[in-house]
Amino acid sequence: MKFTDGYWQLRPGVTVLRPAAVESVEPDERGLTVFAPTGRINSRGDTLNRPVVTVRFFSPADGIIGVTIAHHLGETPKLPRFEVAAGDDHPVEVDVTGPSATVTSGRLTARISLVDGWQVDFLHGDRLLTSSTARSIGVVTDADGREYVHERLRLDVGETVYGLGERFGAFVKNGQVVDIWNADGGTASEQAYKNVPFYLSNRGYGVFVDHPEHVAFEIGSEVVSQTQFSVEGQTLTYYLIDGPTPKDVLRRYTALTGRPARVPAWSYGLWLSTSFTTSYDEKTVTEFIDGMAERDLPLSVFHFDCFWMRQFHWVDFVWDPATFPDPEGMLRRLHERGLKVCVWINPYIAQRSYLFEEGRRHGYLVRRADGSVWQWDKWQAGMALVDFTNPDAVAWFTGKLKALLDMGVDCFKTDFGERIPTDVVWHDGSDPQRMHNYYTHLYNKAVFELLEAERGEGEAVLFARSATAGGQQFPVHWGGDCESTFVSMAESLRGGLSLAASGFGYWSHDIGGFEGTPDPAVFKRWIAFGLLSSHSRLHGSGSYRVPWAFDDEAVDVLRHFTRLKMSLMPYLAGVAEEAHRDGVPMMRPMVLEFPDDPTAAYLDRQYMLGPDVLVAPVMSADGEVTFYVPAGTWTHLVTGEQLTGPAWFTEQHGFDSLPVLARPGAVIPFGNRTDRPDYEWADGVRLRLFAPTQGQRTRVRVPSPGNGPAAEFEVRYADGAAAAELVAGESTGHHCEIQGVQR
Ligand code: BGC
Repeated sequence: MKFTDGYWQLRPGVTVLRPAAVESVEPDERGLTVFAPTGRINSRGDTLNRPVVTVRFFSPADGIIGVTIAHHLGETPKLPRFEVAAGDDHPVEVDVTGPSATVTSGRLTARISLVDGWQVDFLHGDRLLTSSTARSIGVVTDADGREYVHERLRLDVGETVYGLGERFGAFVKNGQVVDIWNADGGTASEQAYKNVPFYLSNRGYGVFVDHPEHVAFEIGSEVVSQTQFSVEGQTLTYYLIDGPTPKDVLRRYTALTGRPARVPAWSYGLWLSTSFTTSYDEKTVTEFIDGMAERDLPLSVFHFDCFWMRQFHWVDFVWDPATFPDPEGMLRRLHERGLKVCVWINPYIAQRSYLFEEGRRHGYLVRRADGSVWQWDKWQAGMALVDFTNPDAVAWFTGKLKALLDMGVDCFKTDFGERIPTDVVWHDGSDPQRMHNYYTHLYNKAVFELLEAERGEGEAVLFARSATAGGQQFPVHWGGDCESTFVSMAESLRGGLSLAASGFGYWSHDIGGFEGTPDPAVFKRWIAFGLLSSHSRLHGSGSYRVPWAFDDEAVDVLRHFTRLKMSLMPYLAGVAEEAHRDGVPMMRPMVLEFPDDPTAAYLDRQYMLGPDVLVAPVMSADGEVTFYVPAGTWTHLVTGEQLTGPAWFTEQHGFDSLPVLARPGAVIPFGNRTDRPDYEWADGVRLRLFAPTQGQRTRVRVPSPGNGPAAEFEVRYADGAAAAELVAGESTGHHCEIQGVQR
C-alpha cells in the first residue's frame, strides 16, 4: 500500500506521524522500550499536543530481534495470532550507556541512536544488515480516516529480496507490490494461494511481520531503496532474523514458526489422479492402474479428485454410489496392489450436503452478524464454511474424515481455503480480517493432526493448496492451477522457489499442467521436472494425465524419470531429513546454496534438489536449455559428461534427458531399487563420488524409511581409488563408484 506521491508529497488526504528523535529509553532484562515524540522537544511546551511513538525492541529467540512500533496501546488485542515459539532462556544483552542504546541477541544487534534523529541499525557483528531511518516509521491516517503503521528497511546496493509465499511473478521481489491476502486466483497473476509475511534478503537476514491479517509490502516499489511493510491499526510487530547465510535465516525462522513435519516414504513415489472434470468410475481407475502396471510404471498413490462425491454435494464425504458402488472393496483392492489412496476434500459445505443441516443445527458453520449461516453460490451452490475456531466443529469435521480413514483412505488433498469472507462472526471471537489468511492454517492443521493421530508421526501427509506462515508444519503443498504450457511450467517453478524461500520444505505441482491439455512435448518435459521435485503428481482438469494418452515415448519418459527418482531415494531421504530438522527446503533456489555467487541471486529457471544436485528443467519445444553452473567441475548424472563453472551453458536434450548435475566432490547415495520409494535405502547402496578431490573424506547419512537408525558411511578418496566404511547403523552391503575427477 502506497502512502506517498513521489519523494516530497503524501497522497491526497494522507497524514503521517514519524518519530523525530528518541526522548528516553527504558531498559529491562529482555530488551528496551524507546519513546520517540513526533517532533523535537526543545522546551516543556513542545511536549503538549505531541504524539509519541513507542518502540519496543526485544529478542524472542537467539539471533532474532523483535520490534513493536505502537501509537496508541489501548487497542483490544485481536485473535488469531501466529503461534510463535518465543523463549526467554537465551542470553540478551541490553546497553543504554553510550550515544546509542543496543539490544544484542547472538551476533545480531539493534543499535538505536540516542543523539541524532530516528536511526536504528541492525548489525551482524560489525556488518550492517539494514536500517530504519528518518522516514522509515510512519503512523498514517488516510483520507477515509483509516489508520496504518508502516516500517521501511533500507535495501542496500545489489540487495535482493525473496519469499513472501508462493508467488508466480519474478522470483526476486525487488520492485514488486505484494499483498499478503490469500486468494483463489490461479498461478498466472499477482495473487497467491499461499501468502507468507516473511522475506529473505541476500544480505544474510530475514524479516517476519507477525500479523496474520493483510500485510502490504512495497519492495523497492514505493521508496526504491527500502522495503516497506504496513498493517492497518495502531501497532506493527516484526522480527529481524539473523543469518549469516540464507539457510541460517530459514533455520531461525522455522524454529520460530515451525519446522516441516516428516512425511511418509511412500509419499515420494509417483501419484496419479483421476483429473478434475473428466469422467471416471471404478472401471476407469482400474484401467489406469492396470495400464501403469502393464507398462512397468511404478505407481505409489492413486488420487481421487472431487467427483468421487456426487455433484452439488461437496463435501459430504459420501462416495458417489453410481460410480463407486463398493468403496470399501475398491480401497481394499487398491491396497492389495500396493497403492496408497488420496481423496480430495475442502472445508466448504454445499447446501445439498447432509452436513449442511447438521453443521447449521450445531453452530459448526461460519455465521453472519445476524446469526444466519454465511453462504454463497460460487464453487458449490449455497456453500457454507466450517468454523475451525470452534473445537466441536473441528471434532465434527475430522470425525467424518476419520470414517474415511477407517474405510481405507490414506491421505487427503486439502484443497481451497482461500476465499474466506470478512463479513462474518467467528465462534471464538476472532477478528475476520485476521482470520482470512489464518483460516487455512486451522483447516490444514485439523486434518494433519487427525492423520498423525490415526497413522502415527511421520506417516501423515496432505496435498494442500493454501497456507500462511507456519503452514510448512503440515506438508505437502502443491502449486495449484497452472496452464499446460512451458510458460506456466516456468511460472510454477518460480512459485515453488518462492515458497521454498518462505520456509516450506516440500513442494509439488501438477505434472503436465492443470488447465487445458499439454502437447506431448510439454507433458514429457514436465514429467522430468515433476520427478525431480520433492513430490510428484500427474494431475489435470478436463483431460487425463496417463502417459499413454499422449504418446508411446511419454510412457518411456515417465518410466525413466520415475525410476531415476526411486533410485535417488537414499539421497532424497537425507535431504528430507534436513528439511524436517533445519527447515532448509528440499528444492532450493540457487541463492540458498550459493549465496556468495552474484549470478545465483537471480536464477529462477533451475534449482538445487538438496545440496548436491542441480536441476535445469527443459522448457522449450526444441529441447534447448540454457543454465548456469557455479564454480567447479560438475557431472551430468545422466550422461556422465563434465562441465566446469562458473559459466553459462546451452544444451540440447532429448526427452529422456535434461541437465541434472552432481556438485563437485559430492557423494550421492543411490538405492538398489527403482520400482518403489519405500525400501531399505541403505541396503546395497551405491555411493557415487562425483569429481572427488585428492584426500577427500565425506560422511554420508542414509536414513531408514521406518523409524530405524540411519546408516552412516565414511567415504575416502585418494589416488584414483575410493573406499567406504559403515560407521553407524546397518546396511547389508554397499559399494563405491567414482565418476570423473576434478578438472
Ligand atoms: C484445484 C485442482 C482441483 C480442482 C477441483 C482446483 O482449483 O487446484 O487441483 O482439481 O480445484 O477441486
